Amino acid sequence: MTTHAIPYESQLCAQTIAFLRRLPGRLLIGGQWTPAQAGHTFTTYEPSTGQPLAEVYQAEAEDVDRAVAAARAAFEGPWRKITPLERERLLHRLADLIEQHAQELAEIETLDNGKPLSAGKAIDVPSTVDMFRYFAGWPTKIEGAVKPVSIPNRLNYTLREPVGVVGAIIPWNFPLSLISWKLGPALAAGNTVVLKPAEQTPLSAIRFCELVCEAGFPDGVVNLVQGPGEITGAALVAHVGVDKIAFTGSTEVGRLIMRAAAGNLKRLSLELGGKSPHIIFADANVPQAARVAAGAIFGNAGQSCNAGSRLFVQRNAYDQVVDIIAKRAGEIKVGAGMDPHTEMGPLTSAEHFERVTGYLRSGAEQGAVARVGGGRPAGVPEGGYFVSPTVFENVRDDMAIVREEIFGPVLVATPFDTLEEVAQRANATPYGLAAGVWTKDIAKAHKLAGLLQAGTVWVNCYSQFDPASPFGGYKQSGFGREMGHEALEHYLETKSVWVAM
Ligand code: NAP
Ligand code: MG
Repeated sequence: MTTHAIPYESQLCAQTIAFLRRLPGRLLIGGQWTPAQAGHTFTTYEPSTGQPLAEVYQAEAEDVDRAVAAARAAFEGPWRKITPLERERLLHRLADLIEQHAQELAEIETLDNGKPLSAGKAIDVPSTVDMFRYFAGWPTKIEGAVKPVSIPNRLNYTLREPVGVVGAIIPWNFPLSLISWKLGPALAAGNTVVLKPAEQTPLSAIRFCELVCEAGFPDGVVNLVQGPGEITGAALVAHVGVDKIAFTGSTEVGRLIMRAAAGNLKRLSLELGGKSPHIIFADANVPQAARVAAGAIFGNAGQSCNAGSRLFVQRNAYDQVVDIIAKRAGEIKVGAGMDPHTEMGPLTSAEHFERVTGYLRSGAEQGAVARVGGGRPAGVPEGGYFVSPTVFENVRDDMAIVREEIFGPVLVATPFDTLEEVAQRANATPYGLAAGVWTKDIAKAHKLAGLLQAGTVWVNCYSQFDPASPFGGYKQSGFGREMGHEALEHYLETKSVWVAM
């Protein structure tokens, strides 16, 4: 088995180094860390240099089969016998362990995904802890109801029961925190899980699953399979032993999953892409709005489903807003995630780098003008997947860079005149994930919040997330909600029980 040099070794904590030395990454099936049956592996890369980072066993259909069987056995056996209070304790123990291993988890995420270590420590790991703590509070509060039926001498009540075996499929942009978005509600509701991370970022899931075992969850409650979507993901989605697929990823793959899940009519929740409008009126706190708008597109190198990627500014504030954003874009320190000065890391994969730079070319070809950025930044490590923070002006609503999700640090900026006009243009997209509105006029803010076709609207702020607040898409940004009790609903069935009295 190939072993790769450990990048940035002198900067890593001892636990991270020990973790990397334990690789190749195995699958977790029924509480056992096991190689894939066929013995194939795939490589994950370090995005700041493009060098191989680690090998991970690739699960094929027979491995997925074993993982689903283990999840079913746990669901019908030990997990069912665990009381709600004990489920709460286990979820809290898991949250504690994630918190205790924060440094190591953030380092693993940076090496595999590319994001700045500071971001992993400030955002990804703490939000994962918070999510498990929030859902740890739910098992003892999931209640049925007695229904006021009108048939004489009949008692009717409802039981809330877990759906069963959940296949959780997640992308590479927030690998660790998206695990918590799925597993928090799935486990709180009493389901068992087969998790499939993205092949670009398999590593934090391995360390996470080691902590699941350490927390004391019964064998088979959480299983981990790794590998490409077309092989491992597809086997999971088609498997008749899986009751529900919880998916985050692109709209295109969401559509494939809907078709493939039809065999046994799996429950589905789909959190898909976005092209979210960020709307700034001239009567807003313009400097603050512009600063936040820059963060909304350049944070996580634009690789956020809710990135504020279409900027609409009311005409007489347009120049001021774009000046501030362009200035900020030019100042952002782009570099390796392990460099403590880095504010924006590389994109996560070579393939995605090709996709984003393709959009930079298509924007220029179609007549858009890059006010700032548009290429590769200077002074970054050789071989890394770096793109400059970019602001395109002179755009038309029919350009590919305006219509399609780029998922990179690329903003398209355009002026508007009236509320009615901007509502219509903001909604002229198949997506409907999120939107931002900046104005000091509360009537205008509420009116636009009502008109926008989006699962989340932020007013005078952006990218606010909390485990208690539901998040998800309208239109082709998917269906179902993450977080809040709304998320829990997607992991529960309702049984109606009638009793003759
Ligand atoms: P993607 O290609 O759709 O992949 C997402 C996951 O699905 C990966 O684990 C992928 O595996 C797997 N997959 C691919 N093809 C599959 C198939 N045929 N059957 C089963 N699974 C399959 O998405 P991405 O490009 O990696 O991620 C970026 C997208 O995610 C963006 O569109 C973004 O907006 C969206 N996103 C949405 C949210 C949200 O909450 N709405 C959050 C984050 C990201 P492999 O990658 O290993 O092949
Ligand atoms: Mg990687």
